[in-house]
Order: sequence, then structure tokens, then C-alpha cells
Amino acid sequence: MKLCIYNTLSRKKEIFEPLHPPLIGMYVCGPTVYGDPHLGHARPAITFDLVFRYLKHLGYRVRYVRNITDVGHLEADQDFGEDKISKTARLEQLEPMEVVQMYTNEYRLKMMQLNVLPPSIEPAATGHMIEQQALVEKILENGFAYEKAGSVYFDVEKYNRNNNYGKLSGRKIEDLIASTRELEKQQEKKSPLDFAIWKNADPEHLMRWPSRWGEGFPGWHVECSVMSAKYLGTEFDIHGGGMDLLFPHHECEIAQTVAGYGKEAVRYWMHNNMVTLNGQKMGKSLGNAISLEQFFSGEHSLLEKEYHPMTIRFFILQAHYRSTLDFSNEALQAAERGLERLFDGMKTLDRITPSEKSTMDLEQLEKSFFEAMDDDFNSPIAISHLFEGIKTINNAAAGKESMTENDLEKCRQFYHKAVQEILGLLPEGKASGDQELTRELIELLLQMRTDARKNKDFDMADRIRDEMARLGVEVMDTKDGFEWKLHR
Ligand code: ZN
Repeated sequence: MKLCIYNTLSRKKEIFEPLHPPLIGMYVCGPTVYGDPHLGHARPAITFDLVFRYLKHLGYRVRYVRNITDVGHLEADQDFGEDKISKTARLEQLEPMEVVQMYTNEYRLKMMQLNVLPPSIEPAATGHMIEQQALVEKILENGFAYEKAGSVYFDVEKYNRNNNYGKLSGRKIEDLIASTRELEKQQEKKSPLDFAIWKNADPEHLMRWPSRWGEGFPGWHVECSVMSAKYLGTEFDIHGGGMDLLFPHHECEIAQTVAGYGKEAVRYWMHNNMVTLNGQKMGKSLGNAISLEQFFSGEHSLLEKEYHPMTIRFFILQAHYRSTLDFSNEALQAAERGLERLFDGMKTLDRITPSEKSTMDLEQLEKSFFEAMDDDFNSPIAISHLFEGIKTINNAAAGKESMTENDLEKCRQFYHKAVQEILGLLPEGKASGDQELTRELIELLLQMRTDARKNKDFDMADRIRDEMARLGVEVMDTKDGFEWKLHR
């Protein structure tokens, strides 16, 4: 079977045919870095991490671009209101770029804990101001935008004459016009559907850049058209993001790309569905937006306990990425038990005494797992096959079924590949625990060195320091003891 991907644009599953194999270009809309990463960030990151890992497993070389939005994303995803970054900067009394750095660091750390692989390129909107202005210029030149009071707006109706605005989200322009209210400052626009591709900065606006239209900042959607074209070319394979970005973000992205570069860029549009909490939409205003840190520590009134990052990851993978997913304490605790059963089963393989013949159909198990993955990354079905296999393994350990030496080894390899490499699930303690253990061991050695010095055993103290230096641990003696740094 060949890999099939559900394409949001054609609304059906299609056989994946990359443009330039073995290289795959994949662009995924990353976070707007203005607050603590929460559950809503985990789902797209894990969904496209699964896609990234599986494409690599199939032998492709994937150039995975995931952007950081650090300017231009205004409140309510509209063309007016405060920039989300600026607002946090004002409230927390920080420089906007401090906000960006702080929450980018936080986002990367949380993704690492969830065992999400870093993308190949992680470009930020503020680092591509020249390229964004060039696209705005090009769209103006091609006649699909107009300038008004220092802002540049995309002319949706003109674009729609020969193109289909709404093709991705399935919306009709007439319905859109009927449902769009005239809002503050929209009198600058010819039509309420038009969107800003360059925005004039009000005097109090913190983030601003010079341009030929005056001081301003790029419209939110421009960065993704620009950065995908810059790193993946004007035609590439996969564009992903959460379903909440389908309209207007991705719809506008298509329009800008066509108006600026002359053609559509994306072959396969992929969208993950949303997460709910106890059946309710999550949101700051609803008081149920739980940050990933709160999930990991259990410190939130809605949480009965803390949940390991791998439990969150496993829970997300237990649903198909196009289905909604409801988080509750019950569901998470069931996932926790399920994951434990999976890893226990894998450990059980080491306790089975090999037999002369095998009752396990390993070939069929592998086939079923990969067929599910080839069917639009159907991880819940793939996982259910892994559990079928675990049943046989447990039976073999109890003497009710049997496995040969050869099958045991193949089974170990298959589970390692499927669980750890493709699904990215690590036995508890391996993700962040390794680092914790390293830290504790270093501190223990340094304590022993201090003790050796106290006992005037300077040979031992020096030996510990030199050997640690050899392993990349730099030890610095300070007034109150020591500090150390790991160089590796
Ligand atoms: Zn985007």
C-alpha cells in the first residue's frame, strides 16, 4: 500500500506523490509566542511530528519548516486591535523581543519534553521583513492590492474574479460578505473582506519597521506565504496547521501566494482538529486554558494529578488527527494505564523463553501497523494493532503461546521502531529523566570531590576534576562551593 493523505483542498484522501523525491518540503504554522504553551499547541506539534517521523521512516529526506509568529498577529485574529506580543509586553513590562524570546524558549522546552523533534528550519516573521515587504510590493504591482493611509490591503473581490477565494475553507464569497460586519477602521477598506498585508502603525504601536508606505508592520498571513516560498520554493508538498487556521489564515495565504508568485504553492493541505476540555472549547476567557506546565505539574484546579508528557503524547496519538479530542482526567488516566501496558509488554519480551516454533504472526502484525499508518497516519488503529501484539506477548510469557528466538528479536526491533521511532513514545524517564539523572550524578561526583578535599585527599579531588573535564564537565570553584557546565 502507498501512503495516502487526506487533502483539505480536494476534501478526499489522495495517494502521496511528492514533487521532488526523495526531498519533501513541509511547512507547518507554528505558535504565536506571547504566552505559556498550552494543550492547543501540543496537538499540531505532535500531529506533524508524527508525519515528519513517518515520512523519514519511508526513506524521504524532509525539510520541515515551522515558523515562529513574533509580529503582526493581532487580537481576535482581525486587522485591528493590539498585537498579541505587544500586549503581553505592555502587561508584563517587557520589551516585545523579550516576550518573544521568553515564550520561544518555553515553547521549545515543552516540545522537547513531548519528544517533538525540532524542525529543520524555524524562521521568525521579524527576521523576514525585507522579504515580506517585497511580496506586498509584488501584489501591489500585480494589481491585487491597494494602499490606503499607509496600510496596504488585499483586494479580495478583484482576486476572486479569476480565482476562487474560499476554495480551501469551502466558504462562498457572497456568504462571507453577508456575514461580515463593518468594524472599526474598516472604512479604509474597499470591502470588509479585504485584509491587511501591510499595516500602518499607530503612534502607540510598539513593533514597527520603515517601509515605502510609512512605518508599519506586516499583516499576519504574509509571513507564511513568504517564508514557505523562501525555504521550500514556490511549489512544495505539505502545508499543515490546526483547523482554526483554515480561515482566514490559510485562505489568505493561498490568495497572497497566487497574487504575488503567480501560482498555488501547496500540493497537500493537512489540518488537525481541535482539542476540548471536559467537552468544552478551551480558552483563556473560559478559565479552562491549562498550560502544558500545569499538566506536567498537576497544579491546576481542574486536574486531579500531574500527567507525564508521554501520557499527553500518547493520548493525542490515540485519536486520529482529524477527529476532535476531549481531555478529561478520566481519559488521561486511561491513557496513562494504556501506555504502561504497552511498555510493560515490550519489557516482557525479555522474559520469554524461546520455543521451537512461533504462534505469533509477526508479519501480519507489522503489515497491519504500517497499513494503518499509510492510511492518512491513522495512529489509533496502528496503536490498536500494537496492543493485539502485546496480548500474544503476554500469553507467550504465561506459556499459552510461543515465540522462536528469531521472532523474539524481530518483535523487539519492530516494537522499538513503531513505538519509539515512529510514534515517538519513550519509556518514562527517558525523555527528561536522562537529563535529570545526569545532573544528579554530576552533583554527586562534585560532592565527593569536596569531601576528598576536606580529607586532604588532593590526588582524588584532582582526579575527579580532570576526569570530569575529559567527559565535558567544566567545574568552576566559587566562594560558596562550585558551579559546573556541561559542554557536549
Ligand atoms: Zn501560518
